Amino acid sequence: MVRMAPDVDVAEAHRDLDFQGEHIVSRHRLSSGSVEPGHPARPPKPTAPIGVVGGALGSVRDPLERTTSEEMSRTRNQPDPTPSPDLLVIGAGVIGLAIARELLAAGRRVTLLERSEPGRAASWAAAGMLSPLGEALEPGPFLRFALEGLEAYPAFAAELEDETGIEVELRHSGKLRVALSHPEAERLRARHAWAVEHGHRTAWLEPDSLAELEPGLTGALGALRLDEDLRIDNRQLARALAASVEARGGRLHRHTEVEEILHAGGRVHGVRLAGGERLECPRVLLAAGAWCGRLSGRPDAVPVRPVRGQMLALRPEPLPSPRVLESEEVYLVPRDDGRLLVGATEEEAGFDPSLTAVGVQRILAGAIRLVPALAGAPIDELWTGFRPGTPDGFPILGADPEIEGLYLATGHFRNGILLTPATARAMATLLEEGRADSLPPEFAPTRFARDPAGRG
Ligand SMILES: Cc1cc2nc3c(=O)[nH]c(=O)nc-3n(C[C@H](O)[C@H](O)[C@H](O)COP(=O)(O)OP(=O)(O)OC[C@H]3O[C@@H](n4cnc5c(N)ncnc54)[C@H](O)[C@@H]3O)c2cc1C
Repeated sequence: MVRMAPDVDVAEAHRDLDFQGEHIVSRHRLSSGSVEPGHPARPPKPTAPIGVVGGALGSVRDPLERTTSEEMSRTRNQPDPTPSPDLLVIGAGVIGLAIARELLAAGRRVTLLERSEPGRAASWAAAGMLSPLGEALEPGPFLRFALEGLEAYPAFAAELEDETGIEVELRHSGKLRVALSHPEAERLRARHAWAVEHGHRTAWLEPDSLAELEPGLTGALGALRLDEDLRIDNRQLARALAASVEARGGRLHRHTEVEEILHAGGRVHGVRLAGGERLECPRVLLAAGAWCGRLSGRPDAVPVRPVRGQMLALRPEPLPSPRVLESEEVYLVPRDDGRLLVGATEEEAGFDPSLTAVGVQRILAGAIRLVPALAGAPIDELWTGFRPGTPDGFPILGADPEIEGLYLATGHFRNGILLTPATARAMATLLEEGRADSLPPEFAPTRFARDPAGRG
């Protein structure tokens, strides 16, 4: 079980959808709109038939056979009939989008089916901290994979920005993990010790040097300085990924909900949409975040559950620090536009998207305890989101153990933004080359498979 840095114990609600279907979270408004993340607030727009019509099995070509440039140009130039895709992706959060983007670069035809708008669920609700050492309390597969992701980020972000012109605000902010209690100071010192042993750039700051660096903090008994941490604007990241996917020829169907994964004889052959339409495809990637367990068709539900997070943004004048500040109770993440994200609760509340009085109270109290000057800061926005949680805290990445041609990429819990580039690369290697060696075996979907004796 991976132990993550704690969030506050205590939903994407209180929001409207604008006419592009974009979530606008009740700015300066605390009343409830009560819309489940990823669900449109009004009935989905009728989507045009997608064109990979079902009924009989569609494409039977070898999925690993590369799309030729002749086929690619035919795809672009001929309006219809649409050629069958090589891969159907269910869910266009950062994970589905980033994997699709890799496969498009390899010449694949990829169709994404998104119930709402791309990148508007957990990927939109996140704080955008990229913090391997802030999240892993011990070395292990999670930390290794997260560090791989962090290392890949600068090139990944630069390429996305060049390709789309969308600025994703990747910043070498670093983080201060502040101890407000003696037991927490001990835990952070221990983390510093093993981090240094493993060659990481961390420092333990005693109260005096911390006060010199961050005069706005009060009650701190020291802090772990994590110099390798980055931050990114996750909403811009999702926008850029969606733009890149479409620029690369990916077909992104918005307001298109998948209800069932279709398979026969142990092989996937497509999906059935909420409207009843069937799409045929020899490969399907399930990347529907916290909702993966809700689709029918797989023998066992994918063991992903929603873990609600309530967050808000303040507009302090000035920002308390250019760094990310974190305590056991709360984290404070600056944005270039002067906002300060304050998060987050961590709650088992099903798919209830409510913001609650106690949730908001706790994160605000945690923020003010850490930086008293925030007491007068105006509240700019409040929202909730659903992290895709798993029983052991690890993501679920790889081929489905029971249905050939079905792949899973979900369960990124608190770290899906951080793990996006590493997940995209490793899953693309699996889908393109059939090699799972870039994926930690601890993340394999087989760990939740029923054993042959039928127990479990
Ligand atoms: C409050 C909060 C703070 C966070 N902070 C951070 C952070 O600082 N750093 C970090 O790395 N991570 C953070 N995370 C975690 C991160 O946001 C998630 O791990 C990540 O966004 C998961 O991405 P995803 O693409 O798997 O899921 P999602 O972004 O949820 O995307 C899944 C998509 O699937 C779609 N979908 C669902 N069901 C269907 C269906 N049946 N048919 C079609 N489409 C469907 C949904 O509409 C959605 O768009 C945070 C999460 C929360 C909630």
